[in-house]
Amino acid sequence: MAERITPRAENYSQWYIDTILQSKLADYSPVKGCMVIRPRGYALWEKMKAGLDGLFKETGHQNAYFPMLIPESFLKKEAEHVKGFSPELAVVTHAGGEKLEEPLILRPTSETIIWSMYKKWIQSYRDLPLLINQWANVIRWEKRTRLFLRTTEFLWQEGHTAHATEEEAQEETIKMLMVYKKFAEEYMALPVIAGIKSESEKFAGAVQTYAIEGLMQDKRALQAGTSHNLGQNFAKAFDVTFQTKEGTLDHVWATSWGVSARLVGALIMTHSDDRGLVLPPVLAPIQVMIVPIFKNENKAQVVGYARKLYERLKTQVSVEIDEDDQNSPGWKFAEAELHGIPIRVEVGPKDMEKNQAMLVRRDTYEKIPVANPEVETRVKQLLEEIQNNLYHRALAFRKENTHQAEDYQSFKKLIEEQGGFIESGWCGNADCEAKIKKETKATIRVLPMGRNGAGNRTCILCGEKAKELAVFAKAY
Ligand SMILES: [Zn+2]
Repeated sequence: MAERITPRAENYSQWYIDTILQSKLADYSPVKGCMVIRPRGYALWEKMKAGLDGLFKETGHQNAYFPMLIPESFLKKEAEHVKGFSPELAVVTHAGGEKLEEPLILRPTSETIIWSMYKKWIQSYRDLPLLINQWANVIRWEKRTRLFLRTTEFLWQEGHTAHATEEEAQEETIKMLMVYKKFAEEYMALPVIAGIKSESEKFAGAVQTYAIEGLMQDKRALQAGTSHNLGQNFAKAFDVTFQTKEGTLDHVWATSWGVSARLVGALIMTHSDDRGLVLPPVLAPIQVMIVPIFKNENKAQVVGYARKLYERLKTQVSVEIDEDDQNSPGWKFAEAELHGIPIRVEVGPKDMEKNQAMLVRRDTYEKIPVANPEVETRVKQLLEEIQNNLYHRALAFRKENTHQAEDYQSFKKLIEEQGGFIESGWCGNADCEAKIKKETKATIRVLPMGRNGAGNRTCILCGEKAKELAVFAKAY
């Protein structure tokens, strides 16, 4: 381990950067605002991608690929869409040594190019639903960037679906929101709140945006995925109509939904500690590291013993063995911790004598001696236990840091001194929302689903009867 990681208590954002750079997940690129994802970071993204891709296919979606260059005129077809994205667009004006007749946009999102194709592909209700996902990179020119969380170019997936009815599109919007919630909770061990975005926070061009929000260790919220009901907005902009069962002509109903590699940032900020990454076993590229502890005179025996364990484990889990004889065992332990490997298996001469191995948990640092024949069974159990523990630890943290505020004074005090999620009433008025944001930097993260609405609450700012229960937080 090369350098010290700044402790979280000293400087949380420096800790985040140190952790990423030292664990070799990513590095800065020559172009400001872009990042290089290194093999360890990409392996993690690939695991996340595989998990999500499986869930998309289970729910009937297929992958396709659309070009990254979009004619400028396409973006202008949907008025709110172009207004929302204009400040972030990168535009190609010259290519092949000539000025282009029409500038081309580097995709910030693909609704427009996809709907221009859907116009060709959809004629009848028999062509619906059309359920397509794309894995791609997008460009949004960001002024303030941060590794994984906000970069000018980023990796993501974007689902784009077309439906015959408004009800079907709404059903799809919620279905994919729940897919994201499942992924966050069961794979990432990240508890999230699912809900509706307020008008001011919704996607440019959507009728309604839904999102999942998680709480990071520094008590700031992070949006981990969004699902949009686009109504007929894009079908109208691109004139995509279809013949209904009844023989009439109607515009197609649409959804889009996406998550990005910012989830890697969410994963780091939810679980990791001052020694480096802590990864949930389901997503850890390496789940077990075996470290044989030997001296020159007993190296052959100890390594032989460790290799037998390795051969048994490798058929069941993702495992590596560190036989290097340049570095000390202590160095290797620290290295395994830095990279967030969920279980370290230590085997030394004493373990050989007792015919056992020492299992060490990354999440709690607990050491567990296990009899040799039981190692595989115990390792698999322990991986599940760690996955569960990470989820429940994060859930307990969120509960501790979710507050209720009844009046604006206590709301401001909570935001300033405690952070976390604050649940309050809101009248539904955008002016109140904007004023709260200006004065406290807290935004409405979501209007949570599955709750009983505003009840008897009053708006936290104006005191009018509340229309909504809103979850406020300072966010990434
Ligand atoms: Zn109000």
